[in-house]
Amino acid sequence: MTQDDANPLPDALRLTSPAPLVDIGANLTHESFAKDLDAVLERAHAAQVATLILTGTDMAHSEQAVALAHRHDGLYATAGLHPHMASHWDSSMETAMRALHNDPKVVAVGECGLDFNRNFSTRAEQERALEAQLGLAADSDLPLFLHERDAGPRMREILHHWRDEIGAVVIHCFTADRETLHGYLDLDVHIGLTGWLCDERRGHHLREIVGDIPAERLMVETDCPYLLPRNLPAKLKGRRHEPALLPWIVREIAHWRGESETTLAAATTATARRFFQLDEEQ
Ligand SMILES: [Zn+2]
Repeated sequence: MTQDDANPLPDALRLTSPAPLVDIGANLTHESFAKDLDAVLERAHAAQVATLILTGTDMAHSEQAVALAHRHDGLYATAGLHPHMASHWDSSMETAMRALHNDPKVVAVGECGLDFNRNFSTRAEQERALEAQLGLAADSDLPLFLHERDAGPRMREILHHWRDEIGAVVIHCFTADRETLHGYLDLDVHIGLTGWLCDERRGHHLREIVGDIPAERLMVETDCPYLLPRNLPAKLKGRRHEPALLPWIVREIAHWRGESETTLAAATTATARRFFQLDEEQ
């Protein structure tokens, strides 16, 4: 094993948060984490990112996320079907998801939602799977972990229709504009921010609007292994994003909100603990 394999995160990229963080979107069941998950979790702990919500994107990955969460303290899971895979939704999956939502380590229904950017499933299929999962959230009293890309107006219509039935909602990896943001905030929706706003090619519009999000509605996430932030001070071999890098995202968001990293870390962690109903002992 080379030094790079044993220690893939250069010292220049090690940043410890001044207060504990919750990464509300970590795709740790992705195959890129299969070989070194323990080291990834150790580095996350060292960076003060000790609480992770593992994203379940289909039946198999939701089950894997739940199993992982049972093996490690501080890990929790969501269970749902991503809009890319919405064409696979059927009654047997609905039954299996409903059962999984009873697991004490499952803290949200999702990732589900609408993605009109890529349309890997048709819009009709996406809406059908989303509506079914909104129903599961209503039945289970779990919060919703939603994905939305280029589908803001339709998502708002659907959430407006369901608002009285469902509980807490987060739009994870928010990337849209100010109008869409305020539409969500008006529906009492929470906002998850990734390193998207570190991306000068497509995310700089977020810098002007992150200050509009009330602290009690804002949470942070890596969406790893995707979306490696572009504000890192050193190159990362392999370009795999991981939870230990969340403090760099918090630093950038704090800068554009005009507040300290400590304040933002403490506020987003309090919001995440309340949103996902995490108790200290679990
Ligand atoms: Zn997503």
